[in-house]
Amino acid sequence: MTHRPNALPPLAALTTPILTWNEGAPHSQAFDDIYFTRGDGRAETEHVFLGANHLPERFANWDIERPFVIGETGFGTGLNMLCAWACFEQHAPASARLHLLSTEKFPFERSALEQALASWPSLAAYAQVLCTQWPSAVSGIHRLHLTDRVTLDLHFGDTTERLEQLDGQVDAWFLDGFAPSKNPDMWQPELFNAMAARSRPGATFATFTCAGIVKRGLKAAGFSWKKVPGYGRKREMLAGSIETPPVDQRRQSTPWFTPPPLAAVKHVAVIGAGLAGSTVAAALARRGLQVTVIDREAPGAGGSGNRQGALYVKLAAETNHQSRVYLTGLLYSQRWLSQQRAAHALWQPCGVVQLASTDKEARRQQRFIELHPLPSDIVTAMENPALSQTAAININAPHGLFYPQAGWVRPKALCEHLLSQPGVTFQQGDVSSLAQRESGWQLSLADGRTLEADQVVIASAHLANQFAQTAELLLQSVRGQISEITLPDGITGPARVVCAGGYVAPALDGVLTFGASFVPNNATNHVTDDDHQRNIDELRQTLPALVAELEQAGIALSPEKLQGRAAVRAASPDKTPYAGPVPIAEAWREDYSLLSKDASRVTDTPGEHYAGLWISAAHGSRGLASAPLCAEVIASRMCDEPMPLEAPLVDHLHPGRRIISAIIRAQ
Ligand code: SAM
Repeated sequence: MTHRPNALPPLAALTTPILTWNEGAPHSQAFDDIYFTRGDGRAETEHVFLGANHLPERFANWDIERPFVIGETGFGTGLNMLCAWACFEQHAPASARLHLLSTEKFPFERSALEQALASWPSLAAYAQVLCTQWPSAVSGIHRLHLTDRVTLDLHFGDTTERLEQLDGQVDAWFLDGFAPSKNPDMWQPELFNAMAARSRPGATFATFTCAGIVKRGLKAAGFSWKKVPGYGRKREMLAGSIETPPVDQRRQSTPWFTPPPLAAVKHVAVIGAGLAGSTVAAALARRGLQVTVIDREAPGAGGSGNRQGALYVKLAAETNHQSRVYLTGLLYSQRWLSQQRAAHALWQPCGVVQLASTDKEARRQQRFIELHPLPSDIVTAMENPALSQTAAININAPHGLFYPQAGWVRPKALCEHLLSQPGVTFQQGDVSSLAQRESGWQLSLADGRTLEADQVVIASAHLANQFAQTAELLLQSVRGQISEITLPDGITGPARVVCAGGYVAPALDGVLTFGASFVPNNATNHVTDDDHQRNIDELRQTLPALVAELEQAGIALSPEKLQGRAAVRAASPDKTPYAGPVPIAEAWREDYSLLSKDASRVTDTPGEHYAGLWISAAHGSRGLASAPLCAEVIASRMCDEPMPLEAPLVDHLHPGRRIISAIIRAQ
């Protein structure tokens, strides 16, 4: 296979390992090797990976704001990472943060993980947190918030491919993986090169092996190493460091996406208190920043203000970057929502049924399933009568998809919950302009007040391009209205969210919500009969049996019988959200003007951005799946942390992407 370091590896369901168990310790049949040594595995990890990377001392002295980052090859049972986390809790000051990232091509099933980690009662509390959040076996990055200050990114897929896609830098490497003699495919020069390119200057590594291929590979990649005493009967192991990591070449073909230089940050102003703004605020506050959220209306008053919203995605049949972002976003949102305090009051992971109500949609769904045999705990194809049984309501459509872990959210309650986090303050106000100051930003409010902040995140949906700095950002207003009806006794509605053109949610307090209408280029937000009628027509198509039941009970669906709510959402021309730093459009056009003559004439000028100005917008009607992940994208970049998405997907979200495509199109 040709090696293409910049290509995003295909989306794939991963195989779980076949294990045999020896007194509680798992053994891999495929590699014929052990995951940890029975009995003293924890002591071995502490010696080999923690001790040789000097973690107790480094944690104790970690007084800088960004997190300490550990990278591992081969997560296995997670023993190494749990030991590192426990060591961090023991030694690090209260202000310190830890970021763990680990690759894994053959992830354990959750039950096997629980079984393996049961060998370590002293780590039981840590293991429980990990097992509760353990993701589905699908390739990609799965971000787990283990505590407020400890994050774990599981990079599922082949180690080398995954590290090549990593947008982030590592302070200490755990070079694990089965023995080179048992797993020669992994211990290749590309692995060591990828590690070197993603190392901080002075990054250390430790590995249990002294194999020649490892020594040579590390040296060629720029690491220095020495043999140090191994654990127990193993005489020697390797430890070392890299003082001057190679310059990352990845940006050569897309210099415009080079992240802006880091800027000091203690206080961030977030404009907009909907889902985009409140998720950013919570992500920044978790990192210890002070956040002021400003909105001209109350939290969640705009597009995020409905009582119920469906958390679901529609994935393209052919994988594209947008679908990859949305799939990662869906999985992240599910995990993240379940971690919230009083999560059950914020969301219901009841599952989502996506109907194929036209032949075209049936073909699309079929093709999607053929191309992406994803794990059935993410999505599975379903026929009737299983569809009707699953939704607990009569469904006409013969085919559909079922997302068992998706569901519905109370968006307004979620925004209010996020804005009540320690470190977040809400202020009502209408920000009319932004001015860059020597250090930071000044926000001018319509009533004459001003506010100072080190950095600013614009998260004001269709109003996000009202500022001079964002005026060129293309945003389309989309009006959306939901309809609500109180169900009579004895009629319950669907047990799952049912989507076709719109969605129907399970009844909440006896009220059925359905919709939403989708009216592009319309920024009005009053409730209209026309939109109610569209929603009724859609409901009739999606769940005719429910409509018939209602009519039999004497409830004829007509606009005047419905309650509703309309709001404006924002969409980008390519329907991908904008999440990242705000580009200086004029500078980009000047710096990259040659692209208009010849798209291959890429200069090496990094993209110019307004220092400390960010945007999270254009979430359309899928904000529940995209906003929490986009919040992590922005917070991670601002705080100099590894990114929660593969590098090409981070670029795909970049607010400047349309400027480059417009220059190239002008050819
Ligand atoms: N660090 C682990 C722990 O704490 O339990 C033990 C790691 S185990 C010895 C090696 C791991 O590397 C296995 O889980 C295996 O599936 C994984 N692995 C092997 N080859 C790989 C590859 N090419 N890419 C990703 N993971 C790989």
